[in-house]
Amino acid sequence: MYPDRVVSGMRPTGAMHLGHYHGALKNWVTMQSELPCLFFVADWHALTTHYDDPSIIETSTWDMLVDWLAAGVDPSQATLFIQSKVPEHAELHLLMSMATPLGWLERVPTYKDQQEKLADRDLSTYGFLGYPLLQAADVLIYRASMVPVGDDQVPHIEMMRELARRFNHLYGKEKGFEQKAQAAVKKLGSKRAKLYAELRSEYQEQGKAEALEQAKAMLDDIQNLSMIDRERLFGYLEGSRKLILVEPQVRLTESSRLTGLDGQKMSKSYGNSIALREEKDVLVKKIRTMPTDPARVRRTDAGDPGRCPVWQLHQVYSDDATREWVANGCRSAGIGCLECKQPVIDGILKEQEPMRERAQQYLDDPSLVRAIIADGCEKARKLAQETMRDVREAMGLSYS
Ligand code: SF4
Repeated sequence: MYPDRVVSGMRPTGAMHLGHYHGALKNWVTMQSELPCLFFVADWHALTTHYDDPSIIETSTWDMLVDWLAAGVDPSQATLFIQSKVPEHAELHLLMSMATPLGWLERVPTYKDQQEKLADRDLSTYGFLGYPLLQAADVLIYRASMVPVGDDQVPHIEMMRELARRFNHLYGKEKGFEQKAQAAVKKLGSKRAKLYAELRSEYQEQGKAEALEQAKAMLDDIQNLSMIDRERLFGYLEGSRKLILVEPQVRLTESSRLTGLDGQKMSKSYGNSIALREEKDVLVKKIRTMPTDPARVRRTDAGDPGRCPVWQLHQVYSDDATREWVANGCRSAGIGCLECKQPVIDGILKEQEPMRERAQQYLDDPSLVRAIIADGCEKARKLAQETMRDVREAMGLSYS
C-alpha cells in the first residue's frame, strides 16, 4: 500500500477570517502532527469561476499563506505549495479527462448549485465543468489516502474514488503482470509466500473478505519490499491489475461553528466577518456594535440569548461558568449587552495573540514565505512526478 497522506487545498481568497480558522485551518493544524499532510493554494480553481478577473490571485495567495502560517500550519510538519507550480496536476487532469464520462461531471451536485449561486457570471465554460476533475487530479496525483472535507464535499470524493477505480481498471494492466506478481510473491520468503497464496485463493475462490484483510495486513508489515512489488502484490490479491491511483477516504470535518457578526454564516461577502488578524481597535468596535436580541431595547429589558448572535460567539469563546452568567444575566436583565460582549472580545484577542506573533516574522520578511513555498513546491513536485511516471507508462506514453 502507498503511505498514508492527507491532501487539502483552498482557493486564494486573500486574508482569512475566523470562520476559515474554525472551519478548516484548526483541523489542518491538528492533522499535520498525525499524518504527512500536503496543503496547497488552489490558484487554478480560482480561475474556474473568476477567469475574467485574475488580478487579485497573486496577492491573495501570499496573504492567505501568511494567515495559514499565523494559524499554526507548520512548514516543518506539512508541505505547503501552490497548485500551478506543480504542473503535473494539469497533466493528470488532461489525461484523466480522456476517459471521464461527461455525465459524471454534469451530475456533481455543486455544478448546478454554483451556476445558480453565481448567476452573475458566465460559467458555461469547459474549465468550470471540469473543476471536479481537476480537484480529483489534485488529490490522486499524491495518492492521498485521506481528504478532509465537510458534508457537502462528500460527492466530490466519491467521484474521485470512481475515477481512480476506472483509471486502474482501464490502465492498470501491466505487461507481464502475472509473472511479475509471482516473482514478487517469491520475494516474501517461503512461509509468507505460502500464506499469501492461501489467503489469495480463500478470497478469490470463496470471497472471504477477512482473508483479503489478513493478507493486506501481512503485506503492510513487511519492511523490505519495494513499492512497486508491494503494489503488484496488492493488485494480485484482488485480481490481475496494478493499483496506479489510490482511492482516497473521506475524513469528515466539523463545519465551522463560528457564525458571523449578524448570526449568519461568516463570510467576507456578507460583510459580517472578523479577520484572522483583525486590528485590536477594529475588533473591539465590531463586537461592541454587534446586533443583540432586539427585545433588549433598554438595559432593564430582559432578553433571550437564543435570539442573539453574541450568544453564538460565547459557544466558541466562553467556558461553562461564563455562559451560565450570560444566560442568567440576559434573561433577568442583570447584565448589560456591552458587559456581556467583553468575554467574547477577550477570548478572540487571546486566540489571535499567538497568530499575530507568528505572522509578524513573515510580514517583516516576505522572502521567508517565498522560501517555504519554493521548498514545498519542490517536495510536492517530486511526489507528483513519481505518480506521473506510472501514469504515463500505464497509458503508453513513457517513450523509454
Ligand atoms: S445580554 Fe448578551 S446574550 Fe443577552 S442580548 Fe445582550 S449581548 Fe445578547
